[in-house]
Amino acid sequence: MPRRTCIGCRRTDEQSSLIRLVRRGGTVVDGTRPRAEGRGAYLHPGCVVMAVERRAIGRAFPGATVDAELLRLLDPESVPE
Ligand SMILES: [Zn+2]
Repeated sequence: MPRRTCIGCRRTDEQSSLIRLVRRGGTVVDGTRPRAEGRGAYLHPGCVVMAVERRAIGRAFPGATVDAELLRLLDPESVPE
């Protein structure tokens, strides 16, 4: 089982327990299933807030914004009403 580094907590984990983020135009979306081509970053579902606070997503995908639907899916409390 391949291991990947979570961009939120920086720990390595099995790829199957991480979600794969990919860039689609100017937006970062969930590319886990089906597996999206292109440069990806990996993240635990519970580490999205940490990744946003550390600006890790912006570093992995310069200039891109995170899809609001993806944020809501990962952490409903992170998205204001
Ligand atoms: Zn993590």
